[in-house]
Amino acid sequence: MHSSDDTITAIATARGRAALAVIRLSGQRAVDIAASCFRGKHLKDAASHTVHVGYITSSHGTDIDQVVVTLFLAPRSVTGDDVVEISCHGGDFAARLILDRLLEAGARLAEPGEFTQRAFVNGKLDLAQAEAVADLIHASSSLAHQVSLSHLQGRYSEILSDLRAELLELAAFIELELDFSDEDVEFADRDRLVRLLERSGRLLSELLESYRLGAHLRDGVRVVIGGRPNAGKSTLLNAILGRDRAIVSETPGTTRDEIEAEAEIHGMLYRFVDTAGLRETSNAIEEEGVRRAERSIEHSDVLLYVYDMSVGLDEQESEFLRTVRERRPGLPVVVIANKRDLVDDAAPEPDAALALSAERAAESEEELSPLIQQLRAIVGGEISQSDASHVVTNQRHRHHLRKALEAVLAAKTSLDAGASGDTLALELRIALHEIGAITGEITNEDVLDQIFSRFCIGK
Ligand code: GDP
Repeated sequence: MHSSDDTITAIATARGRAALAVIRLSGQRAVDIAASCFRGKHLKDAASHTVHVGYITSSHGTDIDQVVVTLFLAPRSVTGDDVVEISCHGGDFAARLILDRLLEAGARLAEPGEFTQRAFVNGKLDLAQAEAVADLIHASSSLAHQVSLSHLQGRYSEILSDLRAELLELAAFIELELDFSDEDVEFADRDRLVRLLERSGRLLSELLESYRLGAHLRDGVRVVIGGRPNAGKSTLLNAILGRDRAIVSETPGTTRDEIEAEAEIHGMLYRFVDTAGLRETSNAIEEEGVRRAERSIEHSDVLLYVYDMSVGLDEQESEFLRTVRERRPGLPVVVIANKRDLVDDAAPEPDAALALSAERAAESEEELSPLIQQLRAIVGGEISQSDASHVVTNQRHRHHLRKALEAVLAAKTSLDAGASGDTLALELRIALHEIGAITGEITNEDVLDQIFSRFCIGK
């Protein structure tokens, strides 16, 4: 373990060609160390939140780069310690040379997430907010970004802290009753307790239910496109993506391997997988493709099954769909009757959710929009600003929310059954512990290390 008294440093920006790079320093000696490498204004006398142009110099006094130094003095900084940010020229060298110079002058290279960890230790952020920093960095769609920003701003933490404060008050009253157990007094209003437990149960359930959407936001929605060769899968995928990513051909079996492509649709990231045709075949390469397609379905969130309306859905395909539904009962399956431009009046099979022409969809958004609406309805990707704070994206949080809900439900059952104050107090304490673990009021070193090691260096 490193000492929290160390002054840490790291390059905060990504490597490679860029206009600027930023190096951060945080700790008691941040200003001293920066000042000892800086030619320009005397940094030690400078006020907080001031910006200074000058040069970082080597230990021999030669210039390394022209820089802009910004000072944030404790406690008014992102970590709560003195922070110095040095903006230098981008590219691979300037930032590295400056970093080496700061290390030589007494700073230590920061561990991954150590800046954020200090912010947490110094009470600048709670744990859920700190985790939102990592989520924000990893966000790969605008909705994921919206949700993690809202968590970083603390609205999600506020919901949990408010709940915890109320439960804590009632737990304290019940514990007080236990202290006066000989005197048969009731400090905790039982009606209020019932109402609070019901409300807590509802809130925790809501948060838990949001996790499905949260996981989609975090990882994207994996949509497998299945169907016989030549059904129009690649054409449909191209239409969705709006560009020619998948190969389209008239010979059955061209899309032998899987093609994966990502698209952001209404703020949500979708990962489409165009599988090799699903059919029995004697061709070895295709057999492998078919096996992979079946495996893909195992790991998908949605299956779009495309068939050619001018040919119809045959018994083997219906059997395949039945098997999928049996094997993965929760998997949303959308059967698409394609090539409706080829059939004048034929109705789609009863199994089909919608009929379209993938070829026309490439030109017309209208042709595609019923499918997009279906996808959105399945994923539940419509969230307003206020909902964003209620979406749980983190697996660790889900674990603690489940435990908290169990404890709240147990407390409610105990209360209804007229159980003793001891039992009630114990169950409330468990709920409090679990909720506190999310925001970091209750935590331990191992959990913290695990969380912050997921961060990149410099964050
Ligand atoms: P895949 O094997 O399922 O990926 O099928 P492709 O996307 O390669 O399409 C096979 C053939 O069907 C190509 O010649 C496409 O141009 C054609 N096709 C695809 N969709 C439609 C459609 O909606 N209408 C018509 N008329 N032809 C289509």
